[in-house]
Amino acid sequence: MTAPQTSWIDSANDGQTHFPLQNLPYGVFSVKGQSPRVGVAIGDQILDLAALDDAGLLPAAAKGTFAAATLNRFIALGKSTWGETRKRLTALLSGEDAALRDNAALRDKALVPMSAAALHLPVDIPGYTDFYSSKEHATNVGRMFRDPDNALLPNWLEIPIGYNGRASSVVVSGTPLHRPNGQIKLPNEARPVFSACRKLDFELEMGFIVGKESALGEPVSTADAPAHMFGMVLLNDWSARDIQQWEYVPLGPFNSKGFGTSISPWVVTMDALEPFRRDNPEQSPQPLPYLQQQDKNAYDIALEVSLQPEGAPAPSTICRTNFKAMYWTMAQQLAHHTVSGCNVRVGDLMGSGTISGTTPDSYGSMLELTRNGAEPVTLADGSQRGFLQDGDSVIMTGYCQGEGYRVGFGTVAGKILPAR
Ligand code: CA
Repeated sequence: MTAPQTSWIDSANDGQTHFPLQNLPYGVFSVKGQSPRVGVAIGDQILDLAALDDAGLLPAAAKGTFAAATLNRFIALGKSTWGETRKRLTALLSGEDAALRDNAALRDKALVPMSAAALHLPVDIPGYTDFYSSKEHATNVGRMFRDPDNALLPNWLEIPIGYNGRASSVVVSGTPLHRPNGQIKLPNEARPVFSACRKLDFELEMGFIVGKESALGEPVSTADAPAHMFGMVLLNDWSARDIQQWEYVPLGPFNSKGFGTSISPWVVTMDALEPFRRDNPEQSPQPLPYLQQQDKNAYDIALEVSLQPEGAPAPSTICRTNFKAMYWTMAQQLAHHTVSGCNVRVGDLMGSGTISGTTPDSYGSMLELTRNGAEPVTLADGSQRGFLQDGDSVIMTGYCQGEGYRVGFGTVAGKILPAR
């Protein structure tokens, strides 16, 4: 094992941080009195790319794209500029190029403690699509709501099932959400009631950000799909199960999902994730030709969900799982999304679907963890949860384990406020 390359910023080298030199995720931040700009996370610091750009230290191709409230302009420059910028940042932060390390005035200007910054939604998201690509999740839900013996619908093994979600309500980690109101059909009533959701849930997901648009009418193949991906985030697809159960036939979820979707503030690039590509899961039957893939499109990302009631001293971990077990890959999702001729745009967010493993402690939703509320989970403070209560915070985290370092996603957290 060779020691990992290190940074002159000490906090990037402890082996535990999510943001070592090998990661360099992009986000949008602001400090008091200044407008939002693009930054990169390194250890416990944020590197202000607008300041570095002003100092002439970043690639000319990216000039002027970092003094911006979203990553979209930078992302739209394309893969070669992403690569060139990553190379420059690696040189500057390793000290291989001393221009930043040895310039105290620039360091003062360009390095901001993460604790002193506000993090913003990193991308202007033109469209949000949510898939349903974990076989274990689809099976668990099918068992509960349909037929235990035929849990998977016949199309599930042929299609990366998805629906067009709501982009306007995608929010950055830390944004609280009100418990939604809606129509709920109680079992013994003829008509629905209008009520606050009684079965509020999270869904542990990851999302990828589209980095390259496709033309209307032109499908993206599974081979070309990775070139259309900029990076990934953690995603919590908050779900109102009782509203969902009444509304989802025949066109799928609507108000039960549209009230909010949370993402983590740091976009981890596909370049940083490259060492963590793994063999694709076995697929049987073999998918139709347009869904077949040659590349390794699975990623080894350890994931965890914890829940913290209002006033509880610490969060309790309620789920541990891994992204690599997803049945349909992101490349297959994008190929399927565009095969009809539907185009995608820079900044589009593609949710993976709930990530559930095979064991009961690896399920990515309360619905599955508690069997629709029937078997509540017990938290560290002794309280029990079938579904989420007002004041509960849900915190998701995830990382790839390298040799002596972690490429991490930080967290996506959100607190539930009472219904309006
Ligand atoms: Ca979902």
